Amino acid sequence: MRPIRPGDRGPAVTEIRTVLSGLDLLSPSPGPGDEFDPQTERAVRAFQQSRGLSVDGRVGAETWRALDAARWRLGARTLYHAVPDPLTGEDVRSLQERLLEMGYDVGRADAIYGIRTARAVAQFQREVGLTPDGSCGPHTMNALRRLGRKVVGGRPQWLRESDAIRQSGPTLVGKTVVIDPGHGGTDPGVVVLDGPLRWTEADLVHDLASRLEGRLAASGVRVQLTRGPSPRTCLPDVDRAQLANSLGADVFISLHTDGHAKPAAEGVATYHYGTNNGVTSATGERLAGLVQREIVARTGLRDCRTHAKAWDLLRLTRMPAVRVEVGYLTSPADRARLVDPRFRDRVVEAIVAGVQRMYFPIERDVPTGSIDVSELRAVVAAGTVVD
Ligand SMILES: [Zn+2]
Repeated sequence: MRPIRPGDRGPAVTEIRTVLSGLDLLSPSPGPGDEFDPQTERAVRAFQQSRGLSVDGRVGAETWRALDAARWRLGARTLYHAVPDPLTGEDVRSLQERLLEMGYDVGRADAIYGIRTARAVAQFQREVGLTPDGSCGPHTMNALRRLGRKVVGGRPQWLRESDAIRQSGPTLVGKTVVIDPGHGGTDPGVVVLDGPLRWTEADLVHDLASRLEGRLAASGVRVQLTRGPSPRTCLPDVDRAQLANSLGADVFISLHTDGHAKPAAEGVATYHYGTNNGVTSATGERLAGLVQREIVARTGLRDCRTHAKAWDLLRLTRMPAVRVEVGYLTSPADRARLVDPRFRDRVVEAIVAGVQRMYFPIERDVPTGSIDVSELRAVVAAGTVVD
């Protein structure tokens, strides 16, 4: 087609101006008008810029298609994964942005209803109790509208997590915690040769996990490890997450040590689920903060802070989940501490204190380092409940 350009008049120009007004790029006063005036040209350029098209201020075939797609408002048609020509449009982009806001993985908001968008819609449908067919029709739109602005920054699942924590009360007794010692089997993780000694991440984190298991069990917690000390194969993260889900775990803690080519790299970091556009699991973030602060306060490891990651392990687990990188095995200073069993006990006490604090109502939270983990045990032994 011949590009529609400044100075042109006619119904096509009226249509273009209508779409641009709908996008708030053009003030439609007094009416849309049928003239491609300088105002229209500026609006076309702004539109092209926003869509990553070449900015020439004319409406050729490509810009026309983009304008046509921009017409669709979310809810005006049923969206589904069409093969081989996927649906595209502004409504798809709005849906994707909404899903991203709520923490669903649609990849990029590219305005194309591809397989990833369909999967995210199906997951949303499952979580709100609709048939997970992956298409966005009136029922799904209603569910999205009902949730409204309330859940910006939180999936329904995360709201349920916060509710579950509030309702379960402050005691650890009867909770289920899945502890995940990283690596194992054919994958030793970070390996450091220290003279005649060979330290592996897989062995150290399994020892930490066993100690943590003992401490938590003594506090009345049901504990399950994702692997034994020497499994034959290495369980993929997806399976570890699924194991925690199938056990209905209340908390998931993955244990690792870090490694770096530079021996100077050292410290502890804790990870929770989140994406780089600011979406985060509120309960996961809170647990990560508590565990991180307790470890730093009780061990003196350098504070490498908490971070949001979209790793499978954190994304697929349906409960507050954290991955702790307890020091760098490649750092001589961190390693000297990690190989000391008394130090590992302090790490474990810090994690127990962090988990306990997550169940305290925020207004009754206690200062970091102040929970005496042995007291929790005494209370359980006495048959009373911490309250
Ligand atoms: Zn690791």
